[in-house]
Amino acid sequence: MGKIIAVANQKGGVGKTTTAVNLSAALGAKGKKTLLVDVDPQGNSSSGVGVDRRRVKQTMYEVLIGETPAQEARIHTEFANLDLLPSSMDLAGAELELIEMEHRESILKNAIVPLRAEYDFILIDCPPSLGIITTNALCVADTLLVPIQCEYYALEGLSQLMNSVRRVKRQYNEQLDIEGVLLTMYDGRLNLTQQVVEEVKKYFPRKVFATVIPRTVRLSEAPSFGRPICYFDRSSKGAYAYDALADEVLKKAAP
Ligand code: ADP
Ligand code: MG
Repeated sequence: MGKIIAVANQKGGVGKTTTAVNLSAALGAKGKKTLLVDVDPQGNSSSGVGVDRRRVKQTMYEVLIGETPAQEARIHTEFANLDLLPSSMDLAGAELELIEMEHRESILKNAIVPLRAEYDFILIDCPPSLGIITTNALCVADTLLVPIQCEYYALEGLSQLMNSVRRVKRQYNEQLDIEGVLLTMYDGRLNLTQQVVEEVKKYFPRKVFATVIPRTVRLSEAPSFGRPICYFDRSSKGAYAYDALADEVLKKAAP
């Protein structure tokens, strides 16, 4: 049964999508069957793996409102062992529609559970909010991966995120665990960065990944070519970092 990892942090621009795309691709490249679920209306994960949303008819929007089974919306990407459930701009309005539905917090769960047996890993790229879509992701996830940007306000908002996690655990998904906290956009030249790293480690004892993602231009360039970093620039620092992260995740899944 595939392990389901939600990549979430309600702050925008912290590296959720970059991590969802590149970790998925790295796991796929290591021979693990991986499904990337893009539930952010911005759809950057979809374009990041080379899928043009304007060309897809069935998306996570149709899946969540119950019009299409996830099996039919799934796309095989051109990358090894990597499939995608694409996003749609319509997901922006879906929050309101989902609120009206029965069992509204298990809609994503019911949609993707039928696919679970086909994969080793399922990664969910969450939108930058703690709304119903992120709640759905936390309800189906085995674990939560929290990217944190190494910047001054790094810890801001994390208590709200952890409150959501506690609430979901209490009400719907007792098993939900923290996969890890990932420091992103690390720039060792800045003193501030070191300070932030120490603070984050204090806030999440033993939960911070040993792998740290460096700030590199190549990671920000790869999406415009629709290629994960390991297929865009295999010997770049960013590719090594996400490869190392994949090894950590694999080790945790099968210690
Ligand atoms: P989120 O999904 O949390 O909003 P993104 O992954 O989209 O964040 O990252 C925000 C921006 O920062 C994007 O333009 C992305 O290309 C860039 N970015 C993310 N990680 C890195 C990194 N390690 N180095 C350089 N740029 C990065
Ligand atoms: Mg994103």
